[in-house]
Amino acid sequence: MKYDIIVLGSGPGGYVTAIRASQLGFKTAVIEKESLGGVCLNWGCIPTKALLKSAQVFDYLKHASDYGLTISEFDKDFSAVVQRSRGVANGMSKGIEFLMKKNKIDVIQGTGKIKTGKKIDVTDKDGKTTEYSADHIIIATGARSRELPSLPQDGKKVIGYRQAMTLPEQPKSMIIVGSGAIGVEFAHFYNSMGTDVTVVEFMPNIVPVEDEDISKQMERSMKKAGVKIMTNSSVEKVDTSGPGVKATVKTAKGEEILEADVLLSAVGIKSNIENIGLEEVGITTDKDKIIVNDFYQTNVPGYYAIGDIVPGQALAHVASAEGITCVEKIAGMHVDPIDYGNIPGCTYATPEIASVGLTEKQAREKGYDLKIGKFPFSASGKASASGAKDGFVKVIFDAKYGEWLGCHMIGAGVTDMIAEAVLGRKLETTGHEVLKTIHPHPTMSEAVMEAVAAAYDEVIHM
Ligand SMILES: Cc1cc2nc3c(=O)[nH]c(=O)nc-3n(C[C@H](O)[C@H](O)[C@H](O)COP(=O)(O)OP(=O)(O)OC[C@H]3O[C@@H](n4cnc5c(N)ncnc54)[C@H](O)[C@@H]3O)c2cc1C
Repeated sequence: MKYDIIVLGSGPGGYVTAIRASQLGFKTAVIEKESLGGVCLNWGCIPTKALLKSAQVFDYLKHASDYGLTISEFDKDFSAVVQRSRGVANGMSKGIEFLMKKNKIDVIQGTGKIKTGKKIDVTDKDGKTTEYSADHIIIATGARSRELPSLPQDGKKVIGYRQAMTLPEQPKSMIIVGSGAIGVEFAHFYNSMGTDVTVVEFMPNIVPVEDEDISKQMERSMKKAGVKIMTNSSVEKVDTSGPGVKATVKTAKGEEILEADVLLSAVGIKSNIENIGLEEVGITTDKDKIIVNDFYQTNVPGYYAIGDIVPGQALAHVASAEGITCVEKIAGMHVDPIDYGNIPGCTYATPEIASVGLTEKQAREKGYDLKIGKFPFSASGKASASGAKDGFVKVIFDAKYGEWLGCHMIGAGVTDMIAEAVLGRKLETTGHEVLKTIHPHPTMSEAVMEAVAAAYDEVIHM
């Protein structure tokens, strides 16, 4: 069975690639061993946001009196919250099935293994293997939860993100190792639901990739909400022989033993590069990733790779953009390589975090002379009306040429606001252009304009 393009894996990398390929007139198939939509739709972006929405509604109910409302009785039903999240994920996966049909893409269910000669063997659930071939094979097999040797996951007491979103019962207490986006989102969810949460982070700050001001604000907000946070600390070993877990944590002051019902290991991801035929075909990998050029070609002609399995930010929107770039290049279109310096990153806890470009520290290290502006949501009318005064927008400009080097936000709704900075940077806008762009009132987005105004000493509401 011969195709123009076969995509191995149907995550936001794979399915988007397949749709764009089909739009461009290629006869396309996508191979998937689990559910359409990959980690993002089934075990990542979407189900976590559904859980976080339940937490947000619950938090609103807890604070109803702040809004002049009396709600005498309310409670949570943990398994219903989990069920809602699974329902949302399943619905999204069905949506991809529809998109595959609409775009006349063949979905081949089974486990794929690439071979030389641009062929792929697909083994279905009954063990039957069928060979397919294509002019171009795009590998998009994604990643899974990374296991540290000191924290082997048993799926019950020491868990990864899949179990964390489908626990049969709400744990009374939880240790979360790692405070990247995944760790912090689960910390917020479980803390809101009433679980006693301790976050252990190896680095000096939580959400360590973010600008330091953002990390500090996040730490304050999470501590205020009741999450315990241990930075400069690492879990050395874990004992699961008792009813719960006992974690030995190395801190600056010595060792400490933490006890909890479960421990969530949120220390990053491991690419799915094993058993997919890379060695047989001779595709080069390095440090757990397939090595590709600017247009996602591997070292072997006719084989490409995109998404979490290649270097770059492991994010859904990055995987999709890489896939589109890859097939447009195959189609002979003029395409620019992706600018990995202009990728927005978001964390959907409360408060939310959104950022793009250089942090203040990175900009200083690069030797820029800076203009920095900050606008707190405590000075925003919309934030006051919404009861969401926690947080701020911080913008960083190059003083000499006015280039918008970075934008960092923390607060309600900022994950929807960051696109303004991404677009502004893409269009090479200057601070003054942003400042002269009229923003609607009252909105949280005014804080971007005001932060830019603050950088140029023209701020109005502060
Ligand atoms: C808890 C969590 C929350 C996240 N939240 C966000 C977020 O809010 N925003 C964001 O941008 N990113 C988020 N991510 C990251 C995002 O999910 C990934 O970056 C994205 O899914 C990567 O897409 P991908 O297409 O490369 O791979 P994946 O989504 O991992 O898809 C790969 C697919 O390939 C299939 N596959 C693998 N091997 C084979 C094989 N041999 N044969 C057939 N099929 C195979 C897999 O079953 C899977 O369906 C989150 C991740 C997690 C874990």
